[in-house]
Amino acid sequence: MKQYFQLIKDPRFRLVQNDHRPFIDGPAPRRVRLNREGFAMVPGVKKKTLVSPGTLLAEHPSPDKGDLHSPIYGVITEINARSVFVDAMDPAEAEPGAFPPLPEPADLLRQGLEGEELVSAVKKLGVNTRSLGRRAKTLIVNALNPEPGVRWAEPMLVEHADEIRACLELQRRFRRADEILLAVPTGCSVRFSGIRAVEVEPVYPNSVNELLIKEVTGEEAPPDVAAVGLHNVWSLGRVALTGLPLTETVITIGTASNWANFVVKNGSLVGELLEFLHISLQNGDTILRGGPLRGESLDRLDRSITKGAYGFFVVNAGEVPPIEGDSACVNCGACIVACPTRIDPRMLSRYAEFGKYNMSRKENFRLCVDCGLCGYVCIARRPVLQYIRLAVKRLEEEERLAGLTPLEPVGKA
Ligand code: SF4
Ligand code: SF4
Repeated sequence: MKQYFQLIKDPRFRLVQNDHRPFIDGPAPRRVRLNREGFAMVPGVKKKTLVSPGTLLAEHPSPDKGDLHSPIYGVITEINARSVFVDAMDPAEAEPGAFPPLPEPADLLRQGLEGEELVSAVKKLGVNTRSLGRRAKTLIVNALNPEPGVRWAEPMLVEHADEIRACLELQRRFRRADEILLAVPTGCSVRFSGIRAVEVEPVYPNSVNELLIKEVTGEEAPPDVAAVGLHNVWSLGRVALTGLPLTETVITIGTASNWANFVVKNGSLVGELLEFLHISLQNGDTILRGGPLRGESLDRLDRSITKGAYGFFVVNAGEVPPIEGDSACVNCGACIVACPTRIDPRMLSRYAEFGKYNMSRKENFRLCVDCGLCGYVCIARRPVLQYIRLAVKRLEEEERLAGLTPLEPVGKA
């Protein structure tokens, strides 16, 4: 029996709402901020360089991490260790030929590329292939919304069916899996030719890839099964259909009372999105990149929607009790009961709180699937998930420096 059974009865943890609203195009950005950590800037791309949509800005040394392209016409105004800023410009107001030519579309669906050659072509177009599933006997496409409050999965299955079909075709050609399954919410009638569908109860945390695999196969962490989220499927499908670099993402933007699904340019500033939606922040409001349960709170309006972000939420002051960074654990055990992987978030959070990261090893911290339920149930409002993420990051860094195999990052949905 699931230990988190009390939570899954909570209607707020349902992942389908049967409220399909069309996708809306986000605003044309005046400025974008693109994450360049770990990327090498392309020679000649520097401050004051003019760029066009799809211009290659930076490459990632990892063969499975997508390269970085400009989503807009503009001029590079700043490059620092973490970000590249591009200020929008109207090409009609510039000298003819001032901007680089738009990239030629690559016809991935007809080129006949397969295997690693195809993976490499896709990486050059900005798609993270690592998140598209490791080599496995069975690959499960996770078509559940990643967490409560995020709502693009059901309409995406219908409105963006062409992108999904195109991605499935490329997935077959990656030759990473013998069989591809589609995990859909119970009662969903959407099907794709040649892909077996499996229905899964749409309650959180079933949408977390590791837990979805267990729901579908009945086994914990079977070695020959992998999962990929619908968001990543959409990204690859978009590139397959357009042949152009990936410069957009799908997000749900919401508050407690209102929400909509958008297609926005990567790097869109959250301040510009709030302005576009006529949302004025009040004292004490929190803005979250990601979902309401495990998103990261942002401290400035010039933070941006990063590639792969699937939501952007405003939590109004007083809506939920705030997290208390210095709150002591009262040993109630609620987080242990809630944890779907049966580890001890209470001890993990304490070790991280006092900088004893190595102690996390004996608590099987690698089994954490970043679901956020421990923090949600904590009556002391401790930042349990954030402590665990900190420990994972520190240990990951330690292992990288020691030349050991890096850990799988948390928060993979
Ligand atoms: S975030 Fe990790 S530790 Fe916390 S409940 Fe989920 S799996 Fe358990
Ligand atoms: S829920 Fe919070 S207070 Fe209770 S044991 Fe876990 S960390 Fe401690």
